[in-house]
Amino acid sequence: MTDTNVDDIPKAHETVYRTFLSGKTRPLSWRRAQIKQLGFLVQDNEDAFCKALEQDLGRSAFETTAAELIPIKAEINDVCDHFEKWAKPQKAKTSLTWVAAKPVVYSEPKGVALVIGTWNYPITLLLTPLLGAISAGCTALVKPAEQAPATAALIASLLPKYLDPSAFICILGAIPQSTALLKLRFDHIFYTGSGGVGRIVAKAAAEHLTPVTLELGGKSPAVVLDDADVEVVARRIVWAKFVNAGQICISTDYVLTTPAMEPKLIAAMKRALATFSAPAPGEAQTSLLHNASYPRIVNANHFKRVSKLLEGTKGEVVVGGKTDAAENKIEVTIVRNVKGDDSLMSEEIFGPVLPIVTHPDVDSMIRFIQDRETPLALYVFTQSNKKRQYIFERTRSGGFVQNDVLVQFMIPGLPFGGTGQAGYGNYHGRRTFDAFSHERAFASVPTWMDSILALRYPPYSPKKLKML
Ligand code: NAD
Repeated sequence: MTDTNVDDIPKAHETVYRTFLSGKTRPLSWRRAQIKQLGFLVQDNEDAFCKALEQDLGRSAFETTAAELIPIKAEINDVCDHFEKWAKPQKAKTSLTWVAAKPVVYSEPKGVALVIGTWNYPITLLLTPLLGAISAGCTALVKPAEQAPATAALIASLLPKYLDPSAFICILGAIPQSTALLKLRFDHIFYTGSGGVGRIVAKAAAEHLTPVTLELGGKSPAVVLDDADVEVVARRIVWAKFVNAGQICISTDYVLTTPAMEPKLIAAMKRALATFSAPAPGEAQTSLLHNASYPRIVNANHFKRVSKLLEGTKGEVVVGGKTDAAENKIEVTIVRNVKGDDSLMSEEIFGPVLPIVTHPDVDSMIRFIQDRETPLALYVFTQSNKKRQYIFERTRSGGFVQNDVLVQFMIPGLPFGGTGQAGYGNYHGRRTFDAFSHERAFASVPTWMDSILALRYPPYSPKKLKML
């Protein structure tokens, strides 16, 4: 599929703008039909999505199904089951004076939305915000990430077949298309990706005073204390670097642990990685670089970026370290003796390299975290709820999980989003609907209330002041 012609973008915007103004997207019955269609879009094309991700990231059908298709279907079902309740006008709890004005809060569609997706989970990170826009009664332009071209092309081909093409249009392309989109006026922009581009999006949105949700990244630490269950911790942390080859915004970017725990943890991580790298039944043993379950780095640019971070480290590589430039593959690589000023600590790794930083006690670990940008996720491994709480109360992060990784994205009921440099706004479940909705205040003040309200009219007098 070819990229959208930049000159056609204003026309697409005009189409969805006119559709929104026509009122077509407001009825709940229309929204429900579109939500169901989105469900069919996913359900009917699961194989095609798995194949597209195999092309884009060398990712297995298991991972695509577990990490994208199942979560997006769960989100669609949740929204389908509840959005009518969320959209119901809510009577405001008010004071006695205003009861007669029957104040109500209406959840109204914001209007025309722009959704810009990213490539690491190119289905769910694009379709979940789109689901929010549909359920709230908005129209939308969606731009999938060009770095996952097979998935982007698949979504562009499916969208007009399943959804109303006058309300939802897919724009294919890269920076020229994004730049053209950002010149236009939207009523909400939902952006997922890097902080650098997040700034570009936020600046462009400010020109039109458009509200923005920014789902960005950062360096998310895993704090491993001495009382942690080392085998379980190792398995969970290594898994977060194996899945999608660590190209996950909430992957464990680095480990903070004590000098006493470090050797035990490394030994257990080696065992965990050996288990993960074992051939599936019927498959021959290969090195991790050629393991069918292990994805590749998305493209040569990101391969070079992660390789450079690894080459620059002053730490000691204790696991992995091999790369294959022809295939854009990097082994799960664990590096110990990493200091705060190391290349591996200079930016979010967003790949399968795991630095380990040691600190003698919890307080110096907390200071290490506090001295850096607020992470999108903070993982703390300890059997002690008291120690966990001690860390929780002294740090900030988008999400916080004790004794596991990544699950905050999946657990129904939890908001997903960052704070500080990890972004602002959040979504999942009802919050996805809220992100695209405006709470419109409504009151109908009976004329007879002037008998009560007379006090507010001039002329003012000392007597009136006393009556306030
Ligand atoms: P990126 O930010 O370069 O690209 C993402 C999107 O931005 C693409 O659609 C791209 O076309 C668009 N884009 C790129 N340059 C642009 C420009 N100059 N103007 C307008 N749009 C532009 O992607 P990346 O840096 O490879 O993504 C990785 C980052 O995304 C990591 O920091 C990761 O943590 C973050 N991320 C966050 C989440 C989350 O949910 N919080 C999820 C996935 C990834």
